[in-house]
Amino acid sequence: MAKASKPSEPRANLIEIPHSVAVRQLAELLQVSAIDIIKQLMRNGIFANINQVIDYEAATAVAADLGYEAQLKPMATIGKSKRYRPYGEELSGLRPRPPVVTIMGHVNHGKTRLLDAIRQTNVMATEAGGITQHIGAYQVEVNGQKITFLDTPGHEAFTAMRARGAQVTDITILVVAADDGVMPQTLEAIDHARAAEVPIVVAINKIDKPDANPELVKQQLADAGLLIEEWGGDIVSVPISAKEKTGISELLENLLVVAEMEDLKADPSRPAVGVVIEAELDKSKGPLATVLIQTGTLRLGDTVVGGGTWGRIRAMFNDMGKRVRKAEPAMPVELLGLNSVPQVGDILTSVAGEHHARALIQKHQQEIQQQPSLLPKAVSLDNLFAQISAGQVKELNVILKTDVQGSIEPIKSSLEQLAMEQVQVRIIHSGSGNITESDVMLAIASKGLIIGFGTGIEAGARRLADVEGVDIRSYNVIYNLVNDVDKALKGMLEPTYVEVIDGRAEIRAIFTAGKKGKIAGVYVTEGKVSRGASARVRRGEQIVCESEVSSLRRFKDDAKEVTSGYECGVGIRDFSDFQVGDILELFRKEKAG
Ligand code: GDP
Repeated sequence: MAKASKPSEPRANLIEIPHSVAVRQLAELLQVSAIDIIKQLMRNGIFANINQVIDYEAATAVAADLGYEAQLKPMATIGKSKRYRPYGEELSGLRPRPPVVTIMGHVNHGKTRLLDAIRQTNVMATEAGGITQHIGAYQVEVNGQKITFLDTPGHEAFTAMRARGAQVTDITILVVAADDGVMPQTLEAIDHARAAEVPIVVAINKIDKPDANPELVKQQLADAGLLIEEWGGDIVSVPISAKEKTGISELLENLLVVAEMEDLKADPSRPAVGVVIEAELDKSKGPLATVLIQTGTLRLGDTVVGGGTWGRIRAMFNDMGKRVRKAEPAMPVELLGLNSVPQVGDILTSVAGEHHARALIQKHQQEIQQQPSLLPKAVSLDNLFAQISAGQVKELNVILKTDVQGSIEPIKSSLEQLAMEQVQVRIIHSGSGNITESDVMLAIASKGLIIGFGTGIEAGARRLADVEGVDIRSYNVIYNLVNDVDKALKGMLEPTYVEVIDGRAEIRAIFTAGKKGKIAGVYVTEGKVSRGASARVRRGEQIVCESEVSSLRRFKDDAKEVTSGYECGVGIRDFSDFQVGDILELFRKEKAG
């Protein structure tokens, strides 16, 4: 029986999927929620979280289940390398992997101090006197389990990575100083984490201070929509002092609990895929890149390719500056051997052999020049309609900045009231003050647009928005603001489709056709049967399958179409359970009106 495509939608088409793709990215490509992808993967026996990278085969299976026909994106020929594990083995190869954690919070609430405290209490102790090298991330061990921390705190860095199409964070720690409470950047951090659907663990910091008021912080968090466990919610909060290093182990243990719930897995037995989290040109060593391994194992001597660079790994260093021979999932390593400096957010994939890598890189560079990137693009009110009809986006993500706090609520509720049955307006972040670079990053990462009411745009934000094509709308009159969005929303409504029946045929015989399954011998009673046409198989009142004509033959020859009064052999994609007497119905969706 057919798949997720709803009757009111046209049949989905061909889609290009790269050799490896994060669940989130696949969701964006297929225009469904990440949850739908995760569920579908589960049905196929794969347990992946939203940030996890899955391979082409797994992605194709999901795409097919959702009514798409997948085609390998050119760069993806890597997936065909000999070292690539067949699909079945890949599944059995999935192992739990450490969580990757980012720290966010308001300035001066203790993010850096907390990162240091975690590193000192859990790394230095084991490596007495060891000099920790800064490579952009580090790993600690808690009760025999590893946790990876990204070293650049703050939601700006987090969302900047997302805006580049790479989301590496599994969990975020929200640091709130108990003597200062929830502040504007705390709220911003919450919205950024939410927009990325990353779970939050709250660290209420500076509890050593005499004026610390953790209870007030909890209340303020509840007001911001984060209800902590003690208060009946599901947000873990831990009181800590980064200064006195109290509460740190409890915080880490809680991270492990949340990680457990997220069921983070990767396959260490496959070739590595990693994301660049830092990169620079070292005068003596050449290009250096810190890569966080997302899946697979990277080994010394492997050839990696991606983001316009490639190279054979000459040396790898861990976060302690020690040479290592291999790096497993969620491990950060600094690589030597790339022939140019990649960009933060680039995905590197290990491939078999230098020759292969050279060919791929060339292809990839051509691709970059020729086609627009796969990265999510922000929407604009003007072309919303076109974007929506192309991709059936059902949400308008808005970042709302206002002159004063008091204007937020009325605008928010007017906009949310505009939501129609098929289209939701989601205010993913609101706040008072100028439009900042971080707002623009969030818009890029969430395919959203920015609305300013009586507020200015910072120069950096303007530049970034221009480069990235983010739509920033400024208003001084609420009516104009709401009216514009209303118009755009009306354009967002998907056109209605009506079904047109192109032909009917009676199934009179069933043949086995090698590995391809069964072919129905049919007699076309009305209209025509054409290859590639949408088709359903009816058995009495029942529809037993809705798919498409995958093969069409008349006698021994392939045919494009066969008209009424003739017999032919028909294959239906993903279906072979024909019975004599079934009726084949060929249909097409057409825009109404
Ligand atoms: P960031 O801007 O969030 O990275 O904040 P920092 O880590 O730089 O900390 C800001 C200030 O707060 C510094 O002077 C820290 O020493 C201080 N601080 C951080 N954590 C604590 C804490 O637990 N207790 C006290 N008393 N001070 C802290």
